[in-house]
Amino acid sequence: MSERKVRVRFAPSPTGPLHIGGVRTALYNYLFARKNGGDFILRIEDTDSQRFVPGAEEYIIESLKWCGIKIDEGVSVGGPHAPYRQSERKEIYLKYALELVEKGWAYYAFDTAEELDKIRKEYETAGKTFAYNYEVREKLATSLALPQEEVARRLKDSNHWVIRFKMPENEEVSMNDMVRGNVTVNTSTLDDKVLYKAIDQLPTYHLANIVDDHLMEISHVIRGEEWLPSLPLHILLYRAFGWSDTQPEFAHLPLLLKPDGKGKLSKRDGDKLGFPVFPLYWVSPAGETARGYREDGYFPEAFINMLALLGWNPGTEQEIFSMDELIKLFSIEHVGKSGARFNPEKARWFNAQHLKAKNNKELAEIYLPILKEHNIECPLEKAEKICGLIKERATFVTDFWGLSSFFFIAPENYDEKAVKKFWKNDNPKYVAKIGELLAQTDDFSATVTEPIIHEWITENELPMGQVMNSFRLAIVGASMGPSMFDIIEIIGKEETLKRIANASEKLG
Ligand code: GLU
Repeated sequence: MSERKVRVRFAPSPTGPLHIGGVRTALYNYLFARKNGGDFILRIEDTDSQRFVPGAEEYIIESLKWCGIKIDEGVSVGGPHAPYRQSERKEIYLKYALELVEKGWAYYAFDTAEELDKIRKEYETAGKTFAYNYEVREKLATSLALPQEEVARRLKDSNHWVIRFKMPENEEVSMNDMVRGNVTVNTSTLDDKVLYKAIDQLPTYHLANIVDDHLMEISHVIRGEEWLPSLPLHILLYRAFGWSDTQPEFAHLPLLLKPDGKGKLSKRDGDKLGFPVFPLYWVSPAGETARGYREDGYFPEAFINMLALLGWNPGTEQEIFSMDELIKLFSIEHVGKSGARFNPEKARWFNAQHLKAKNNKELAEIYLPILKEHNIECPLEKAEKICGLIKERATFVTDFWGLSSFFFIAPENYDEKAVKKFWKNDNPKYVAKIGELLAQTDDFSATVTEPIIHEWITENELPMGQVMNSFRLAIVGASMGPSMFDIIEIIGKEETLKRIANASEKLG
């Protein structure tokens, strides 16, 4: 293997919102590039004008940005091989297609879509499937069958021709895939793919992809498994051009599977089970929408952590990684061969872990605007304290309000179940007594109030759980929340006593 600069590309087609499988492909490319001191290139493969969707390219770029995947070269940043959008490279490809015709690796085909349809149907009736290949190419309207003058005439008269690759007959092609190892395919099982279409003067994916990877000096192609069947053709294209010596190495990534493991993860699975399959919220030109991880409240670092482990493992039990750690540890050798099953619960778990790992100040900065939405002004320090108390119980920052509103709003209603369970026997009296005890101290630090109340409970041999839960009911209005003494430290003496009085009044 020659020592060459690592250059990888992420080459999406702008046909809709980028699926999380695509984000994973981008991520693995990025990790590989960073790990090896290489370049990460964004190339937009938009030669299929029929599948082009406005807004998709912007969506791709914004998704990468949100994920923290930095583009070194390519669409949106430029670079020495610009342009990086294939529709803007149109002029480049014909020359290469013609070179292959000249070398005998490709030929012109003049069949119309209707003619091909007809042949296909005839084959079907005979119980066979039609393939445009070595068996038929010399019998159809191609430059391999027609007289030279006729070919010249047709090329001159119309643009109804394509250039097809002349797939060799009965040859074993051996390929190395960094994930799958050696793969051998007999060329007789492959058809003659279209490389170039005169009608729109555009290359197809196969030609544009190989030419661009060559011109952009791509060293490693890391892409989804769905492209593995194209690999023999790509290898032969490199050979046909005489570029085998510098052809990239290939790694085909395992599929992302549905939660039940049966088939490819689709938008429908997400809709059915209530999770996003796209990084960002998406609105199609027709107005259809799809939810996104960002808008669902995921941290980008949790999202990429989860994606990184869908198909790759570090070889240890560690599950929580920052981008920098992923870069350090990533290697293609640890990419699995079998499909990676998506687990929506695990996705939430990753977010919860990253949330807990954040310091209280960081969280408070996200929390304050949420409070503001509820018309609550809160000093940063107090917000930090609250975040520290509730983060253990939260999965998303959006859970914060529900977990903490009682710090700011006294209960108006009390949870019925909790009332039934705790506001009975002597408990209301005990809560009133707690009020009296607390009234005697001005220092409401948890370290002061906790021993006062606990000692009183123990000395009088009262049922700790019952008493504390009724106290909680009076202050919070429900059976939830962090330690009572932490809560009353934050809401303060006056508010605590007020809530106790309120509860006795309302609950009797
Ligand atoms: N344009 C192709 C896609 O959208 C790229 C495949 C490749 O990376 O070669 O998947």
